[in-house]
Amino acid sequence: MNAFTEPHLQSPEAAREWLEAVRWPEGPVCSHCGTIGHAYKTKRTGWYRCAEKECRKDFSVTTGTAMERSHIALNKWLIGFYLMTSSKKGVSAHQLHRALKMDYKSAWFMAHRIRECMRQGGFAPPMGGAGKIVEADETYYGKPETPRVSPRREREGRPYKMRAKNTRPIVALVERGGSVRTFHVPVADQKTVEKIVTENIARESRLHTDESKLYFNASSMFAAHETVTHSHDEYVRYEDGRAIHTNSAEGYFSIFKRGMRGIYQHCAEKHLHRYLAEYDFRYNHRVRLGFNDGERAVLAVKGATGKRLTYRQPH
Ligand SMILES: [Zn+2]
Repeated sequence: MNAFTEPHLQSPEAAREWLEAVRWPEGPVCSHCGTIGHAYKTKRTGWYRCAEKECRKDFSVTTGTAMERSHIALNKWLIGFYLMTSSKKGVSAHQLHRALKMDYKSAWFMAHRIRECMRQGGFAPPMGGAGKIVEADETYYGKPETPRVSPRREREGRPYKMRAKNTRPIVALVERGGSVRTFHVPVADQKTVEKIVTENIARESRLHTDESKLYFNASSMFAAHETVTHSHDEYVRYEDGRAIHTNSAEGYFSIFKRGMRGIYQHCAEKHLHRYLAEYDFRYNHRVRLGFNDGERAVLAVKGATGKRLTYRQPH
């Protein structure tokens, strides 16, 4: 939270210059045709016109990003990025509203947009690898908004609510000493969990889980599947000098739950994946992995491209 004194956070103009340097290290990049360094400044502050014959379109450093067409001053956006990427447990829209002196609704939208910028995705390489350990674990968070109906009961014409503990399941994969990936799934059954682990973890990895039946087939999917028996109070076990446990995954869940309880008391289920993306981002860029507050904010800002979140229907 000490970042507020940095020069580029003091005015919208300074913020724009900083953002241009971060997003366009080799000169203005046309958001329409992708041409780099071939545009000229227009009379409108911060706006460029593409000099490509076929294009000739206008753009600014926020065109095509989460910050496009926002009435929030650019330096407030950047402070928002700093706050949300540096505080371990997250920042509420209410805190942003007070810290940045903006109305609550704008703060709420801004928070969601920044969260979207923190979402990593696309074509991530598999986690783990030869000699590496990946932990898998599940947890349950909050109460459901839509009652889940058992398909069998429904066929029989009897609506039936599944037990509360079966709601909002989250599956986390954590590479030991490395990154996390979380998944909010409709139901944490063996099929769902197997699909997640096989799609995200390299076959050469050793998988560590608790004794859950969800991982029944895992020994045939990975170099090894090693378990601890939580129901017997066994939390770590040593084998050939390797520690077998799921403490990294549990550590992640504990940060997530403490943060969500303290900061985001009313998280709608439809937004849960966004909050998970926010916690994943911070975990994957934590100090232990060599990132500081400034670098974390820059990475989130760079993630703003193509995350417009317009709340309009695409044509
Ligand atoms: Zn262009």
